[in-house]
Amino acid sequence: MNIAIVGSGLTGSLAAISLANAGCRVDLYERLSDDELVNRDRTYAITHSSRKILLSLGIWSHLQSHLVPFQYLNVIDYELNKKVQFLVNDLDIFNQKYSAVGWIAEHKILMLSILEFISKIDKINKIPTSVIPNTNNYDLIVAADGSNSAIKKKFKTPSFNLNYDQICITARVLLRGAKSNEAFEILNSEGPFAVLPLGGDLFQIICSQSIAKATLNKSLSKSLFLDYISTILPYGIEPDTIIDEPTYFPIKFVFNYSFFSGKYIYVGESAHKVHPVGGQGLNLCWRDVKCLSDIVSIPFFKNNYTFIPFLYSISRFLDVFLISILTDSLVRYSRSNVNIFFIVRTLIFLILRKSSIIRKQVLNLMTNGL
Ligand SMILES: Cc1cc2nc3c(=O)[nH]c(=O)nc-3n(C[C@H](O)[C@H](O)[C@H](O)COP(=O)(O)OP(=O)(O)OC[C@H]3O[C@@H](n4cnc5c(N)ncnc54)[C@H](O)[C@@H]3O)c2cc1C
Repeated sequence: MNIAIVGSGLTGSLAAISLANAGCRVDLYERLSDDELVNRDRTYAITHSSRKILLSLGIWSHLQSHLVPFQYLNVIDYELNKKVQFLVNDLDIFNQKYSAVGWIAEHKILMLSILEFISKIDKINKIPTSVIPNTNNYDLIVAADGSNSAIKKKFKTPSFNLNYDQICITARVLLRGAKSNEAFEILNSEGPFAVLPLGGDLFQIICSQSIAKATLNKSLSKSLFLDYISTILPYGIEPDTIIDEPTYFPIKFVFNYSFFSGKYIYVGESAHKVHPVGGQGLNLCWRDVKCLSDIVSIPFFKNNYTFIPFLYSISRFLDVFLISILTDSLVRYSRSNVNIFFIVRTLIFLILRKSSIIRKQVLNLMTNGL
């Protein structure tokens, strides 16, 4: 099968490897140089679903030593003053042996490893261009061209779009009092706030705030920004230094009503985009890749590829829908400071703390997907 992939971000690049593995010839279109692709300042939470995909492609063993595992995920509700902890023991038995609830990965390391892998695969031909390929030359075209997908615009593929009235701020900080193997998800009335371990005392903070508050924070000096962070961090954890300039970016929710248009198949952020709370973004994108490669590998579809886009679209719908709704609910939960919601919040926390079965269900859904 001849496949074109438009976009060589983390989704398109992994799709190229995975589809080449499934026996396809792949032309990988990208408008940016490898250096530009690598030099993005982002940090991802890696779940067990991504671990399994990387493992099956032989990339995991190269990456593992560069990832930071965490054994504790602390979810703290500031308004209720309650905390629930997810542990390795809450994972299913197959994931427990990896001794981590999840891993934290820096973009540069992930992208470099994946590009290195691509360079060793003969079946992948990289084409440096921004021209959208013609369907006559390919059996299928994979649109991995990100949230501003030109392909989606060209075909006017309908989607649900929501601009959160929030901005995300990320920065690397040195913290005192936090363990290097624990991550935090803090539910604060301004918006969720995540603290992810990067090794030793170094942590990535991902803080969502109202546009008004973030605009104010943008004008703060580094030391005043540190003071602000110290007011949100859990009791006993203090910020020492900010390592880099904080980065600000808007947050959107996007959900395509269909994940294909004719021969064009949408994967990754061209199909969906979620709030960074919960660290689901990249993992959801990579599950698209796994689903598409699994379908392409079925012998029946080798000569009947016209069915693939539709089958892919219906196969991905439920996982993407559910995780998008769960992620969005977490944002709304965090910001719901109306009294009536406190009863619901208290109940949710009580159930999560008391029932290990529910805790396991929630963690396993978030880490494995559907
Ligand atoms: C500022 C920012 C910060 C983020 N931080 C986090 C985070 O902390 N944690 C997290 O999990 N997720 C984060 N995300 C989301 C995460 O980056 C994405 O989930 C992930 O990169 C996968 O996206 P993708 O490969 O689908 O799209 P992208 O990474 O956007 O890749 C799309 C690629 O397509 C290329 N392209 C576009 N149009 C064309 C064309 N016509 N021809 C050729 N090439 C084309 C682009 O150059 C780009 O390389 C962040 C996103 C942004 C924008």
